[in-house]
Amino acid sequence: MTTVHTHDALTARAETLDAQSPLHGTRDRFTLPDGVIYLDGNSLGALPSAVPAVVGDVVHRQWGERLIRSWNESDWWSAQTRVGDAIGRLVGAAPGQVVVTDSTSVNLFKAVVGAARLRPGRTVVLTDPDSFPTDLYMTDSAARLAGLEVRRVHPRDAVAAIAEAGEDLALASYSSVDYRTGELWDLVAITEAAHAVGALACWDLCHSAGVLDIRLDADGADLAIGCGYKYLNGGPGAPAFIYVAERHLADFDQPLTGWHGHARPFEMSGTYEPAPGITRARVGTPPLLSVLALEAALTAYDGLSPADVRAASLSVTGLFIEALDALGVDLPLATPRDDDHRGSQVSLRHPQAFAVVQALIARGVIGDFREPDIIRLGFAPLYVTHVDAVAAAEHVRAVIADREFERPEFTERGAVT
Ligand SMILES: *Cc1c(COP(=O)(O)O)cnc(C)c1O
Repeated sequence: MTTVHTHDALTARAETLDAQSPLHGTRDRFTLPDGVIYLDGNSLGALPSAVPAVVGDVVHRQWGERLIRSWNESDWWSAQTRVGDAIGRLVGAAPGQVVVTDSTSVNLFKAVVGAARLRPGRTVVLTDPDSFPTDLYMTDSAARLAGLEVRRVHPRDAVAAIAEAGEDLALASYSSVDYRTGELWDLVAITEAAHAVGALACWDLCHSAGVLDIRLDADGADLAIGCGYKYLNGGPGAPAFIYVAERHLADFDQPLTGWHGHARPFEMSGTYEPAPGITRARVGTPPLLSVLALEAALTAYDGLSPADVRAASLSVTGLFIEALDALGVDLPLATPRDDDHRGSQVSLRHPQAFAVVQALIARGVIGDFREPDIIRLGFAPLYVTHVDAVAAAEHVRAVIADREFERPEFTERGAVT
């Protein structure tokens, strides 16, 4: 068959898959520009249509008219735990264990020091050498403060390294999905191994929350952190979240003891006393415009189960890979082909990956480049359809087959990449 026929056949199948998908129609819950296939929801999620009106109300009425009274009238005070519970529903956490606060970087810092204090006398923390850099930087500094040695061990070797560290191990801290390759790691096995030596496990859900069927409670996670602005669509700079399992809450002694984590902040006491529940993971006054934008954004998930979202994600990324094959795109995949080891992105390798990404963006297919040679395409199944996946594969084919990426306007790297 010619590629035109192949493309038409794939598109017909994509239309059927979209019509049958449990996420059929959820794209209408988002505001996206025409002519764009947005494959960068793992960097900055798209705008949910519910957000602008809510932000308008928060600015004009809650802030502009009601002023300081809104802390009580609009319950700003409990917004962080309310939104935390909404995220909890997407990551398998019962209410009272997730709070929206700070950034992922800061929450990881709190989690590592908090874990060390939950496991006094233990001296080792394990993490992935290929982690997102901020995770490495924060873990190193938190470990230095807490007197821990950091061992950087690839997730595929983590279970053996946990056994080797034995009772010295305080914490195994891993991302559920590799941010570059999209590979999905077996955090359940890592968690079980950590528990077998009496240690804790912290899961970084930046590339998982909102697209995978994460089950923090059922799978025994101790701590977890994640971003609000990626697949959760909270908007640029949206606050992050932290999960502390119920069984650890009473003893979770996090290092950033701000007044919003105090049991009775308005006593204005000179002595810190942590709040009884997950509220103790808060620090200072939260960015309420962003917290409330995130709350509105999460309504895009109303009525959807994480299992359905995961199934749709696998179906869309699977069809994209199949379409690349069928259209004869011969680039190495950095992402595993099998469903059990794939997150919600497909990364391709190309020696001129930067220029390929620029050429795709010029065609309206927005993904991103990651050093050194990765074309990273994130699929947010709420707004990326099967039809989009086939169209994107056809754009990749054209950029590669016609060597569009060699055009000078795509090869020049500006200051901001
Ligand atoms: C996106 C991402 C972060 C970002 O951290 P911020 O504090 O929000 O800048 C951290 N870790 C991982 C694994 C990420 O993917």
